[in-house]
Amino acid sequence: MGKLWLGCSGWFYKDWVGPFYREETKSKLAAYSQVFKTAEIDSTFYAYPSKGMVMGWLKYTPPDFIYSAKLPRLITHKKKLDVNKGVEEDLQRFCKLMEPLQQNGKLGCLLAQLPPSLKFNLPLMESFLSVFPSRFRVAVEFRDESWLREETWRLFEQYNAAYTIVDEPLLPPKVKVTSDIAYVRWHGRGDYPWYNYHYKTEELEQWVPKVEETVNQAETTFGYFNNHYHAYAVKNCLEMMDKLGAILPRQKEVKKTVKEYLKARPKAPPPKPSLALTAFMPEEINRMGFKDLLRIFIDNRRIKRAKGIKDEEVKLQEVTSDLVKATVRRYRVTIDVSNRLILHDCADWSRCAPVKQLCKHVGKVLMMMPEEEAVSLLRKIGTEREKWEFKPYVAQVL
Ligand SMILES: [Zn+2]
Repeated sequence: MGKLWLGCSGWFYKDWVGPFYREETKSKLAAYSQVFKTAEIDSTFYAYPSKGMVMGWLKYTPPDFIYSAKLPRLITHKKKLDVNKGVEEDLQRFCKLMEPLQQNGKLGCLLAQLPPSLKFNLPLMESFLSVFPSRFRVAVEFRDESWLREETWRLFEQYNAAYTIVDEPLLPPKVKVTSDIAYVRWHGRGDYPWYNYHYKTEELEQWVPKVEETVNQAETTFGYFNNHYHAYAVKNCLEMMDKLGAILPRQKEVKKTVKEYLKARPKAPPPKPSLALTAFMPEEINRMGFKDLLRIFIDNRRIKRAKGIKDEEVKLQEVTSDLVKATVRRYRVTIDVSNRLILHDCADWSRCAPVKQLCKHVGKVLMMMPEEEAVSLLRKIGTEREKWEFKPYVAQVL
């Protein structure tokens, strides 16, 4: 049985004040390390740390606290591991800065998170691993499935590099232990961003045997929750510890507090359009242009979000005067004119549909349709709104 370290990706989040941190001013790291024994350092991804920062990490945590740290994006995203671009020197510089943590036994692993654009390239990976300072442990996180193959595992075993096991929308949750450490990251399964996600009990339970498997295979397993919005990471991490039978009484108490705080939190208010439909006569609606029609059905915040969705994320499968079928990312949208029915399946839809408002996905579909079609559709819905139904897909299937 190996050792298991579970924690969160980062600790400096404003929205953790309340559910997790008691006050704004106190050192968050000191408070965090009272509860968790490990953390992932995220800030090193954006820039090399200063000496003072590293000394702070050392000083404000108990002696048995252990970190993992992300490699600078200069190495992983800009130079894409290419040793011909001076990656060896960059690694040396970074490792030298992290040395105080390493010497004090407080550095578990360095994490190389690759960009999605970096596809399978064995020679590139091998040259990177061959210049990686051998006194440091490394875990590599892919964002492209092409890497998940035998050659990669063999190379990682040869260099004692850990494959990063992930829970996220891009890769399957494959468990593969390739070194004496195992490394797991829970990113969340949110639409956008992934990290705004609260894992349900069943979803965590599915991970229990997987984590147990890594603990059986590796000397040390590190696992981090990165779904940091609203301190979900804190709650889910403590829940995972509990399910694995690896939770301390103090952590159990914190778990309860966070849970209660999140439960008592006011729910997001239902959407409120900037133009109220009831203020208009059918003749007026029939004279309105696209922008105003949209403002009847979607509030400004959601319109803004709809505009943030990329065109290529929308697939219009069918657009006729009778039926609109589309997908936005992994969500489906059906507007069935003859049955006066809109079907959709995102989480926000459960807030929008009861008040007959539209979410950003449906909004984006309307924006992508030929404007004339969208206008005539919205006029139709606007003038006969009582007859229209806004429903989730599930109800339809049942
Ligand atoms: Zn939606």
